[in-house]
Amino acid sequence: IVRPEPAQNAFDRFYAGSRGAGGTFKVSHGEGIFFWDTNGKRYLEGSSGACVVNLGHGNERVRDAMIDQANRISYSAFYSEPTNTLCRMIADLAGPGFDQAFPVSGGSEAVEAAIKLARQYAVASGQSKRWKILARMPGYHGATLGAAAVTGDPDRDEIFGPIMQIMPKVPAPLSYRVPEGFDVSSYADYCAESLERQILAEGEETVLAFIMEPVGGVATGALVAPDSYYSKVREICDRYGVLLIFDEVMCGAGRTGTFLAAHHWPDALPDLVVCAKGLAAGYSPLGAMIAPNRIVDKVAGSGGFLHGHTYAGNPLSSAIGVAVLEEMLDQDLMGNAKRMGVLLQRKLHALKDRSTTVGDVRGMGLLNAVEIVEDQATKAIFPAAKQASYRVSEIARELGLHLYARRTASGKFGEWFMAAPPLIITEPEIDLFMELLTETFRVFES
Ligand code: PMP
Repeated sequence: IVRPEPAQNAFDRFYAGSRGAGGTFKVSHGEGIFFWDTNGKRYLEGSSGACVVNLGHGNERVRDAMIDQANRISYSAFYSEPTNTLCRMIADLAGPGFDQAFPVSGGSEAVEAAIKLARQYAVASGQSKRWKILARMPGYHGATLGAAAVTGDPDRDEIFGPIMQIMPKVPAPLSYRVPEGFDVSSYADYCAESLERQILAEGEETVLAFIMEPVGGVATGALVAPDSYYSKVREICDRYGVLLIFDEVMCGAGRTGTFLAAHHWPDALPDLVVCAKGLAAGYSPLGAMIAPNRIVDKVAGSGGFLHGHTYAGNPLSSAIGVAVLEEMLDQDLMGNAKRMGVLLQRKLHALKDRSTTVGDVRGMGLLNAVEIVEDQATKAIFPAAKQASYRVSEIARELGLHLYARRTASGKFGEWFMAAPPLIITEPEIDLFMELLTETFRVFES
């Protein structure tokens, strides 16, 4: 077999111009919160890849489970014990209001599954006029066309719009770039009211669901809304018979300190939740849609769920998912995410106080973002040519720190990087992360 040289690999060309991931690393191996490139240089996982590697690298329990399952059976299109165990564990961790987990292979697939289950539920309930899924601007829900249709990103709409039905968007309750005349709280109220206005404008009988990230991912930079926003959204959805879907692909699976981010707002639980990324923590492609019996039973009773992907729920990925969840529970990694999150946020705020270009620090647990500005007083961002957030991630990379950065379309919503290390991170490792970050900003600001 002749393998192409890595530098000539099409992968590089596909990713040319896509700087958010921090450039193309030639990765060799990893251990704990570090990975090494093929030149032997070490990098700290400042963003857990794209908020994925919650257990860090080289976890022995996961590796043993992987080998054990591969020795039994890796693939089956039929029922397998690890898949059953995984779904039970996910539903149990999701807690009251959630009875069933449906396994998939990733985040976009999970979003597609939720949209389709919601639609089948409406049809089975005699509400076949309901099909519109309202979503937020900005927001991100995945790369497949159904998920892209609910993604709030004008750049993608322009390119892919003709081959999908772009769904209506309502504003996301930004906390830093709050429009003139509002404060954080009144803007969150306005955003919740915008959902109601949009439902009425669409015709309430046509609206199927509202999808949102309860704690934002990379599209909003770890946006967290005031508590009242969540209960208002829940009330509005109830008032108009609209299903509430939480996209927890990035914020779920323990990253914010609870298994679901939704658990921070127990009076505003959604009808459907989707998770991925941290569920198998990078050891396998895996995701899940989590649903209550009332929805699953209705769809099951009217011909079954018209959805499936070949690899969804395969035994190998499932066994890996089980091992990841067991490790997370045994090591109290959600507790650690909470504790280390408080520490990290404190240190990031101190960095902001010392820096001239950190505009905002926000997030929850170990899902945080650091917003970069040219002027802290006016919140003005750097000119596009500077590509400031990508420049920060390049400097960090030179210093041995990987950061997942993002500049929003035309800079309208700002730019940031994710401060989201693995959930296994220790206090001394947080100190090392902050040393590297402090040096990164010293270079960036000099
Ligand atoms: N939703 C959110 C909130 C995400 O962050 C992502 C991935 N970044 C997705 C959906 C899509 O997941 P995947 O890339 O696994 O398809």
